[in-house]
Order: sequence, then structure tokens, then C-alpha cells
Amino acid sequence: MATPTVTKDIKPSKESLKTVPLPAPNGDFYEVTESLNAEELNLLKEVRAFMETNVAPIITKYWADDAFPFEVLPALRGLKIGGLGYHGYGCRGGSTLLDGFVQMEMARVDPSFSTFFGVHNGLAMGSVYLGGSEEQKQKWLPPMAGLETIGCFGLTEPLVGSGTGGGLTTTAKRDGDAWVLNGQKKWIGNAPWCDVSIIWARDVGDNQVKGFIVENKTTPGFSVEKIQNKIALRVVQNGLITMDNCRVPEENRLQADASFRDTAKVLRMTRAGVAWMATGCGMGAYEHALAYAQKRFQFGKPIGSFQLVQDLLAKMLGNVTASQCMVVRLSQMQDEGKLKDHHASLAKAFCTVRMRETVAWARELLGGNGILLDEQVARFFADAEALYSYEGTREMNTLIVGKAITGFSAFV
Ligand SMILES: Cc1cc2nc3c(=O)[nH]c(=O)nc-3n(C[C@H](O)[C@H](O)[C@H](O)COP(=O)(O)OP(=O)(O)OC[C@H]3O[C@@H](n4cnc5c(N)ncnc54)[C@H](O)[C@@H]3O)c2cc1C
Repeated sequence: MATPTVTKDIKPSKESLKTVPLPAPNGDFYEVTESLNAEELNLLKEVRAFMETNVAPIITKYWADDAFPFEVLPALRGLKIGGLGYHGYGCRGGSTLLDGFVQMEMARVDPSFSTFFGVHNGLAMGSVYLGGSEEQKQKWLPPMAGLETIGCFGLTEPLVGSGTGGGLTTTAKRDGDAWVLNGQKKWIGNAPWCDVSIIWARDVGDNQVKGFIVENKTTPGFSVEKIQNKIALRVVQNGLITMDNCRVPEENRLQADASFRDTAKVLRMTRAGVAWMATGCGMGAYEHALAYAQKRFQFGKPIGSFQLVQDLLAKMLGNVTASQCMVVRLSQMQDEGKLKDHHASLAKAFCTVRMRETVAWARELLGGNGILLDEQVARFFADAEALYSYEGTREMNTLIVGKAITGFSAFV
């Protein structure tokens, strides 16, 4: 997307007296947004305007305060992007590719905001969309698409993270026309304030993992404690959920899900989304670092005129561009129905590694100011750590790829 040129903040020097306008920072070097059609591009522009107008000016304060900006929810609802990528049930529709671009665009301004949206739209709504019965989709998806009902996704536990596939300790026991849930879920994004939780628990009857829609505010025995003292994604409110004999009606069990394989279908989709977010996080850090390099003077010149600084910027742009090309193809494969777990895992692992490198170079470029929230880059630098570890660590995603390409499972 075209961005305005920047000439401000340049102090007079022989260099700048040439009055040539400087190129505006633009993290879309290969014009990947051109892969969208005109209608999709318009939506992306609306999302960019929303993020830059409503979120960018306030988000650093919320990050510092470890608080969620509820004040922007009405404007977000006005964008009508709830249920992006899903069809019917009041959802926005659109391609997976468009959904990916929206996640990148959000993360370009704030990785926390894109995570909040990804947890709701991807993990929570996706669980109902993929695993719900027709009645469940009719009931739950319209208010979730309207962002009137916000969801979270409870899979990880205090003692079980990477090993959730075989080791969930939260139990579900059938009791008449209801289920009784017991256990804890850790790290659950949006949980301290949202309305519904998708809880994954092991059925003590058949030992299979099943999904349940739990109403946070009205289910006795369901409580959430906010996780304090995070150094990343501080805008996202993460919770420790405790379920003490929570009774959930059978009609709230995800009817099309039979085992952890069905949980994995949701993760396959959302891991692709995290690869897009990581790309956006690197893009935002690169653009801020470039703007800084154009305005910061040392030795009487903009630091962007030094060869070693240009080296950092070119390496960052290479990472961002490689990630963009990868995720565009990933989403095209998803839209073509070809996406497998190992495709999403490779992109999640690759893009988060490249992002981590990029934000570190951006921080380095800002010198001491790189550790101050005021210059934005520090927020991307810190937030990247969470994106790197959640939705499957690099090691777990590498093992998924390794199994697919060698034919040997190296999982312990
Ligand atoms: C900010 C944030 C938000 C999150 N949001 C959610 C959410 O909304 N819902 C949810 O359910 N979860 C959420 N999570 C949890 C997240 O998915 C887990 O943190 C992640 O899966 C890793 O699990 P763990 O932290 O328990 O690490 P562990 O599984 O304890 O792993 C620790 C280290 O050991 C390595 N390791 C483990 N096993 C192996 C192995 N076999 N071989 C090699 N290395 C191995 C890991 O790669 C990692 O480096 C969130 C986490 C964070 C930090």
C-alpha cells in the first residue's frame, strides 16, 4: 500500500540541504499486497487506518499499564471484520489470504492487538466453526462475529505445554446430560475478561480429548486469575483458569470433534496466522527503525547514511520480505485446500525466528533509545518473545516438519 513521503525532523546538513524527499518507510518492498483484489485491498486499507488512528496513539500507555484498550472495541466492531475467513453465520467471509494480511497489518502496529484478535477470531471462533454442529454454529458464531461475545481458547495447562497432544490432565466426566470439568488452564489469552472459553479436556470415559464451550461468567466453579508481570504482549490479558466441578451441558460439547486430531485442525489454521503476525511484527519494527535512521543524527549526518546501519536495515528487510512471500504462498495453499500441519509449522517456526532476529536488529539500530517504550521498537522487541513461544515452540514445530520430511518421528 502506498504510504506518504516523509521529510520532517531532518536537521540542516549538507546532505539534507539537497531537499530531496526521503523515501517513506515501507515494509512491503515486493508489493505483496498486490496479491489481493481491489475489494480486499480496500478492507486492508480500512484496517490500516483503524490501527494507525485508533490503536497506535494509545497502545504504548496500555502496554506500560498492562491493560486492555476496551475503548477501541466499538471502532473495531465498526470495521465488521469478525469472522474473517469464515462463511455464513454472520461472519465476514473472505479468503484465508485476506485474513493473513489483516493479521500482518494489525501486528505491524501492535502484536498484542493482533494476538487478542487472533485468539478470538482464530482459536475460539475457529474451534466452533470447525468442530461445532450446525446448531452450535447458529447459536455461537453470529454474536462472536459481531464481537459482542468474545472468546478464548484453553488448551495449555500449568504442567502441560508442548505435550498437550498426549498429556492433558484436565478431565471431563459425563454425568447425565452434562459434563463435569476439573483442572487448570494456563496462559489463556482474553480469559480474564472474555465471555466464552473453548476448553479442551480428556474424557475419562474413552481417554480422548474433547472440546467444550464454557460460559465464563455464569458457570459455577469456573474462575480466572490474571497472570501478572509479563514482559511481552502486556496488552493481552492472559489468565490462569481453574475449573472446580464445572457443569457444562452436553449441548455445549463441540459435536463434530472426537479427539486431539480435531484440536490440531484448529492449531494448523491459527499457526499459519501466527506466521503472518510474526511477519507483521518484524515489518513494524523495521519501519520504525528506518524512520529513526532517517531522523537521528550522529557525526553531523543521519545514521541512515552509514554503511553499517544500512546493512542492518537491508538484513531486516530481507527477513520481512522472505517471510511475506512464504506466508502468502502458505495462505494460497490453505485457500486451495492443500495446507497440512507441516506447512503451517514450517512457516510458524521460520517466520518467528526471522522476526526475532529482525526486532533485535531494530533495537540495536536505535542504540539506547531502543530500550525505551517511547520509540515503539522496544514494544515489538519484547512482544516477539511471546510470538516465538506460543502456538507451538520452534522446537515443536521443527519436530512436526522433521517427521513429515524424513518419515521418522523424533517426538519423545
Ligand atoms: C503470551 C502467551 C500467550 C499464550 N496464549 C495461549 C492461549 O491463549 N491458549 C493456550 O492454550 N495456550 C496459550 N499459551 C501457551 C503456549 O502455547 C505455550 O507456552 C507453548 O505451547 C509452550 O508450552 P510451555 O510454555 O509449557 O513450554 P514447555 O512445553 O514446558 O517447553 C519448555 C521448553 O522445552 C522445549 N521442549 C519441550 N519438549 C521438547 C521436546 N520433546 N524436544 C525438544 N524441546 C522440547 C520447548 O520447545 C521449550 O523451549 C500462551 C503462551 C504465552 C507465553
